[in-house]
Amino acid sequence: MILDLFRLNGKTAVITGANTGLGQGFCIAFAEAGADVIGVARRSMQETKEKVEKAGGNFQEIIVDLSQPNAVELVMENCNSLCQNVDILVNNAGIIKREEAKDVTAENWDMVINLNERLVFFLSQAMANRYFLPNKSGKIINIASMLSYQGGIRVPAYAASKSAVMGITKALANEWAPFGINVNAIAPGYMATNNTTNLRNDTQRSEAILDRIPAGRWGTPNDIMGAGIYLASEASAYVNGFTLAVDGGWLAR
Ligand code: NAD
Repeated sequence: MILDLFRLNGKTAVITGANTGLGQGFCIAFAEAGADVIGVARRSMQETKEKVEKAGGNFQEIIVDLSQPNAVELVMENCNSLCQNVDILVNNAGIIKREEAKDVTAENWDMVINLNERLVFFLSQAMANRYFLPNKSGKIINIASMLSYQGGIRVPAYAASKSAVMGITKALANEWAPFGINVNAIAPGYMATNNTTNLRNDTQRSEAILDRIPAGRWGTPNDIMGAGIYLASEASAYVNGFTLAVDGGWLAR
C-alpha cells in the first residue's frame, strides 16, 4: 500500500529545538506517523511531551544548550542511554538576530553561525558515524529558509547560515547517498512562530511580506508536516540533497 511508505513505525527520530514552533510540530507529527521521538532543547519540553503523548506517541528529552562547545558529545551520550538506534535526525534548532550589516557584532555573527550552520554539520556527522553509516540507512532533514535563496533584510548572519544549510545538505547527500542515507532540507516560508514575532509586530514589514505570499497568509507548523513525514519516510528513498520549499508560493513570485 502506498500509504505504508509514509509510516514511521519502529523508527526513532531526534529533533532539535523541540520545545516550540516547527520543532514541536515535527515531534507531534512524527509521533502520529508512528516514530518514537527524542526532543533536544535548552529546557524541559513538557508541553511537547504532553502533546506527543496525547497523540499516542512516546517522547523522551535531552536538555542541552546546543550553542555550548561540547553540545554534540552531550547529545550523542544521551542518545546512547535513551535508545538503541536513531533513524531520523531533524536539524531544526535555529536562531535569528535582526540587525543591519553595519552593526553586526562578531559575537552575534558567531552565535548564529555556530548554531544554524556548524552544529548542523557536526551533529549530522556524529549521527552518521554512530548510527546511519554503520546501518547503511538514515534520514537527515535540515531546516533551511527562504534566506537559503535570498539575502533578506537586516539578517546577514542568518542568510549566510541558511545558505550554508542548503550547501551542507547537498554536500552530505553526495557522500552519503551511496550508503542509503537521505540528506534533504525543508525551506519554510514565512511561518507564524517565535522566529518571526518581531517581523509580524513590524506592521510595515508584515504587510509587505503578506502581500507577496501568493497563498495570502503566514504558514503554520502544520503546513510543514507533510514535507517532514515525506522526507523522514521511505516515500522519499530516491530524493537526495534537495531543499523542498514550503512557502505558500513565495519563491514562485
Ligand atoms: P522558534 O524560535 O520557535 O524555534 C527555534 C528553536 O530552536 C526553539 O525550540 C529553541 O528553543 C531552539 N534553540 C535555539 N537556540 C538553541 C540552543 N542554543 N540550544 C538548543 N535549542 C535552541 O522558531 P521556529 O520558526 O520554530 O524555528 C525552527 C527552525 O525553522 C529554525 O531553524 C528557523 O531558522 C527555521 N525557519 C523558521 C521560519 C519561520 O518563518 N518561522 C522560516 C524559515 C526557517
